[in-house]
Amino acid sequence: MKSRAALLFESPSRWEVCEVDVDPPKDQEVLVRMVASGLCHSDVHYNVGDQVTAMPMCGGHEGAGIVEEVGAGVTGLRPGDHVVTSFIPSCGHCRFCASGRQNLCRAGAQLQVGPQLDGTYRMHHEGQGISQFMLVSTFSAWSTVPKNSVVKVPDDVPLETVCLLGCGVGTGFGSAINAANVRPGDTVIVMGVGGVGINAVQGAALMGAASVIAVDPVPFKLEMAAKLGATHTFAHIDEAAEFARSITDGQGADSAIVTIDVVTGDHVAQAFYAVSKGGTVVVTGMASIKEPPGIPISVLMLAGYQKRIQGCLYGMGSPAEDILREVALYRAGHLKLDELITARYGIDDINVAVEDLVQGRNIRGVIMHEH
Ligand SMILES: [Zn+2]
Ligand SMILES: [Zn+2]
Repeated sequence: MKSRAALLFESPSRWEVCEVDVDPPKDQEVLVRMVASGLCHSDVHYNVGDQVTAMPMCGGHEGAGIVEEVGAGVTGLRPGDHVVTSFIPSCGHCRFCASGRQNLCRAGAQLQVGPQLDGTYRMHHEGQGISQFMLVSTFSAWSTVPKNSVVKVPDDVPLETVCLLGCGVGTGFGSAINAANVRPGDTVIVMGVGGVGINAVQGAALMGAASVIAVDPVPFKLEMAAKLGATHTFAHIDEAAEFARSITDGQGADSAIVTIDVVTGDHVAQAFYAVSKGGTVVVTGMASIKEPPGIPISVLMLAGYQKRIQGCLYGMGSPAEDILREVALYRAGHLKLDELITARYGIDDINVAVEDLVQGRNIRGVIMHEH
């Protein structure tokens, strides 16, 4: 199978759109005709070089498409099924999956080593094995992926929209409802309202937070946040923290969710000082590999004020459950998805899409595939 795909041969570099060969599915795999893929900052981390993975690689980890072919031993999926990719596969029976934490599935250890789960490649360029980013490579019009890396969704939801459920929506939404455990009446700060943070705003609003305070230096993103559930918006965390104290008798926010594109220890410290006694800081955005260790906070205050710093991967939930819950909320009109898509691009314009993301022009840009 020939497929148009966006590859990185080294990092940092621009994406190169090439023709690749995609193998048919083997045991426990499916071939997906990708319809659409969101462009997430996690893809950009690799083309700017602030994170590392096996190269060369085909990017994209937030996609939706249609199952074209199933490999041996695949049950529960058949050709024609509509699916959303999950950027962490879930085996269903390791101790993490068994305890409702599919996002921590042990199969995650095999995500960035290069080949697929059986140690061989399904994607090739001029005879060379291509690493499939997060095993799914949604920047390819066709991709053979583990069956545990897709979640079947109803046929009547638009794939060019629900592709966002593959990463940004679940990551941000889960940051609010699972990691921050937002409760009715809470005061919640969301730091950074791009494609992930905007869904933390939606999650906090849906859980009944009295005040959802969005922070971002880009005015357009704050306007979007205000349309999707933010009650107050600020350009800087210091103003947001001051406002949170002003409406909580000086106590501070119940939670602060850090969804900044490249998180530093200073950002986490700002969130730490913005939350009240017993408050929670959720760290969802990824740091650069070059970020030195350390968060400049008072360790005495961590214990004495009983604050919690909670790392959050993929919304701290289970994609197989969460994606369907998000579909239900979208259908009911409670979770906005269409509004999150600022622009759509052909695969040949992927570097334009990256530039738009980096310049803060998009909430989410979506790559549309042609076949
Ligand atoms: Zn992502
Ligand atoms: Zn597992």
